[in-house]
Amino acid sequence: MKWSKSLIQTLRDNPQDAEIDSHKLLMRAGLARKVAGGLYAYLPLGMRSLKKIQQIVREEMDRAGALEIVSPVLQPAELWRTTGRWDTMGPNMFKLRDRGEHEFALGPTAEEVFTDIAKGLISSYRQLPVTIYQIQWKFRDETRPRFGLMRSKEFLMKDAYSFDTDAEGADRSYWNMYRAYERIYARCGLKAVPVQADGGDMGDSMTHEFHVLADAGEDGIAFCDGCGYAANLEKAERRAAPCADAGCPAFEEVATPDARTIEEVAAFLKLPADRFVKSLVYVADGRPVMVCVPGDRDVNDVKLKRLLGAKSVALADFETVLKATGANAGFVGPVKPADAALRVVADVSLKGATGRIVGANKEGYHLKDVDLARDTKLSDADFADLVVVQAGDVCPKCGKPMVIKRGIEVGQVFKLGTKYSAAFNATYKNDKLEEHVMIMGCYGVGVSRTLQAVIEQSHDKDGIIWPAAVAPYQVCICLLDPAEPEVAKVADELESALEARGIDVIVDDRAERPGVKFKDADLIGFTVRVVVGAKGLANGGVEIKRRDEDKSKTRVVAPADAPAAIAEALA
Ligand code: ATP
Ligand code: MG
Repeated sequence: MKWSKSLIQTLRDNPQDAEIDSHKLLMRAGLARKVAGGLYAYLPLGMRSLKKIQQIVREEMDRAGALEIVSPVLQPAELWRTTGRWDTMGPNMFKLRDRGEHEFALGPTAEEVFTDIAKGLISSYRQLPVTIYQIQWKFRDETRPRFGLMRSKEFLMKDAYSFDTDAEGADRSYWNMYRAYERIYARCGLKAVPVQADGGDMGDSMTHEFHVLADAGEDGIAFCDGCGYAANLEKAERRAAPCADAGCPAFEEVATPDARTIEEVAAFLKLPADRFVKSLVYVADGRPVMVCVPGDRDVNDVKLKRLLGAKSVALADFETVLKATGANAGFVGPVKPADAALRVVADVSLKGATGRIVGANKEGYHLKDVDLARDTKLSDADFADLVVVQAGDVCPKCGKPMVIKRGIEVGQVFKLGTKYSAAFNATYKNDKLEEHVMIMGCYGVGVSRTLQAVIEQSHDKDGIIWPAAVAPYQVCICLLDPAEPEVAKVADELESALEARGIDVIVDDRAERPGVKFKDADLIGFTVRVVVGAKGLANGGVEIKRRDEDKSKTRVVAPADAPAAIAEALA
């Protein structure tokens, strides 16, 4: 490919809305163009990398024995009503009607469609296990589309669904996909780590997310270097001992005018935040409940849901807080709330806590010297691990302190059990001709997010550094004197020789200064750069340098030896 015919357009400036490096580079290198917020066109260079990632995903799915199909983006409402998700998916799902007023969704995922397809195709245990997949565009009306392809409204996803006769089979299918994912990311040149994740409304169901670690990641992940425990902060647990506080005198009221937040009250009373109990009123499945955690910690909603056995939890509104406690948020606490029947739960680290400061359930006042066992209704069953894990918290597996890192979720594997198959009555007949519901798993790879995650993980101040397997072109041949017949001839021969080896090449034949060409080659980040110029040829050859090497590593080789040297540099 000749650069002059490639429609490549690099940009000098970062786009205004780009906050993270990979988004800036994606746009500046001319890989994609924004059409509207959260909607992107993939330009020729971006398209090439996207196709390469798709191909790796496809090959590894096929190798794992999965069967490729493609299902419509437009999905009828009836399928979503079968599982109830037409109503529970919320505003993230794009809904529309056809001219006959039939309702449809633009598929945000495809469990319903695939379960329905499998129900139609599968009748006997002889057909199982089976995994079907597609690589198809997905649509989500994200609250905050941002970071370019990382969180867009339309994105390319590989989604696979496994169908099994029993739990052991479903387990095998799960790990089969898990291992395929490890191969996919490794082949893309990505370091992606599997971490335990929360099963959402599937409760304790097994699921792993694959994360690319990066400061720009939207998810927090707890890691233990001691035993390898890794979990998304939504899920991460900690080992926390009850406290062994000494007794304290009877509690008394202290005036804390205008001090509502823990920081404000702590500053006012000149005491550290962990002496305080942060009390928050939530509504769990329609009923108020007070949640107490140490003043310097945050409530983990997922853990709260689990303790309460609730379907949904959310912070209560102003009126609910007032009615339940007798005060406004900021002054509420577990001692004698207005609603004597209010359920109070607390983080396990507050068990045995004495001498604490809590809201007095009275505007402008707190209570000091509170002994939670003595002064509240909290019983043993009301204590659980309820906070978001922080750095230094103790690993639940081995007891070593954990660290927190940021990650970009590039994929997820999930055991679904019979949630979807039962709703659709997707059954098979066993060898005794008895009917059973199939056991399912689902497995997603964010193909377009993966593209940008590669950039986030592999770049420097000058631009992208593409791993060879997913580079838009693996090699860029920069012609220093494109008008010189000898230079053009050597470049053409080299291009053909590389293509014959299956290496894709772009030849920068533009009438630009070398500095411009080198800058563009570095910005786009082709894995290997080859410089062909009249002076170099006169002095013995062409210059070869990998993008991830500095100038001092440049080697000069005779044109005839260049193809082998380049292939070696790519390997
Ligand atoms: P997130 O938590 O980031 O919103 P998710 O867990 O809702 O993602 P899944 O339903 O697991 O997403 O979808 C499978 C994969 O699709 C994700 O692992 C991610 O890589 C990708 N993905 C999800 N939402 C988006 C999006 N808005 N833009 C780009 N890729 C996405
Ligand atoms: Mg996910």
